[in-house]
Amino acid sequence: MRNQIHNKYREFLSMIENARNIVLVGHLNPDGDCIGAVTALKRYIKSKFEDKQVTITVPTPFPDFLTFLDPNSEILIHKNSPDAVRNKIEECDLMICMDLGKPSRTENMENLVRECAARKILIDHHLDPEDFTNLTFSFMEVSSTCEITYWLLTECSEGKPLEEDVMEGLCTGLLTDTNNFSNSLFPSTFLMASQLIETGFRIDRIQDLVLNSYSQDRMRLMGQMLLNNMVVFEDLNASLMILDLKTQKKFKYQTGDSEGFVNLPLKIAGVNISGLFTEQEEFIRVSLRSKEDISVNDLSKRYFNGGGHKNAAGGRLFMKIDQVAEYYEESVREYLKSLGTTFEEK
Ligand code: 5GP
Ligand code: MN
Repeated sequence: MRNQIHNKYREFLSMIENARNIVLVGHLNPDGDCIGAVTALKRYIKSKFEDKQVTITVPTPFPDFLTFLDPNSEILIHKNSPDAVRNKIEECDLMICMDLGKPSRTENMENLVRECAARKILIDHHLDPEDFTNLTFSFMEVSSTCEITYWLLTECSEGKPLEEDVMEGLCTGLLTDTNNFSNSLFPSTFLMASQLIETGFRIDRIQDLVLNSYSQDRMRLMGQMLLNNMVVFEDLNASLMILDLKTQKKFKYQTGDSEGFVNLPLKIAGVNISGLFTEQEEFIRVSLRSKEDISVNDLSKRYFNGGGHKNAAGGRLFMKIDQVAEYYEESVREYLKSLGTTFEEK
């Protein structure tokens, strides 16, 4: 990865140099990696190139715990301001898509992204990326988009340490996509962490901002989910959590409150697949995690209208919330059977 970045970073810099209006695009339901990457890149460009206009656009709002990366609410959210986003995209001469492998991950912005006549760059770590950009930094053997961006900006700075406020964003994605250094780990991941610490950067400060900033309601919702809304299918080594609208209302659910819940059942010995199903008005949002060789990317593509990474994927379902448990159980069983797993008949 770092060699390939080295071979392409000059082209990246010259595309930025030659642009005036740059739009950075993130994905639906932006997470820490997405918001961390776009805010860090915007800060980098603004400090190195004074004459550039840089606008961040995302399809839907992001969780409150990430507002420290956008203290002045500069990020344009398509769901809230569709016209402003359209105008910015139509007038831009460079678009940089981050943490999304295909334009469809921008949901209602998909056509704007596809039809945008500007030159395009992709910085991403998802499986099966679509070839829709002029310059692509797409690597899967890496923790996060923030890590790719770190190596890219380090090349651009010829090895000099990045500014503190750029590292802030990049560290956020490193922490959230690795689930605080517990998955998606590569040698380069720890090298990045090590280099950050070497500059005097306080990773523990970002850990506190990102990981220890729950609201009381969110903490109690987590207790409810574990106590009453989780089912373990022991024969399948799988677990299921359902976050229905009623529970959301009871605990004053806000975007991002369920961040990390899907990882919790994997702490149970023997559980290798975890599914979290969040009821929304139009569909059910699916979040899947797995251990080792089980690919929830494949599982999601086959049964849950989505995809992602091997051990972390998402998707959506169009059914009633009380049909989910049976559908999930049967889908996982069928999927495991297709891998050659055998079960005793129930
Ligand atoms: P999460 O469970 O955190 O929402 O998503 C896990 C991973 O799966 C993320 O990397 C995300 O980009 C990807 N993902 C989530 N939802 C979808 C989806 O609907 N389609 C695809 N292709 N990927 C998704
Ligand atoms: Mn990511």
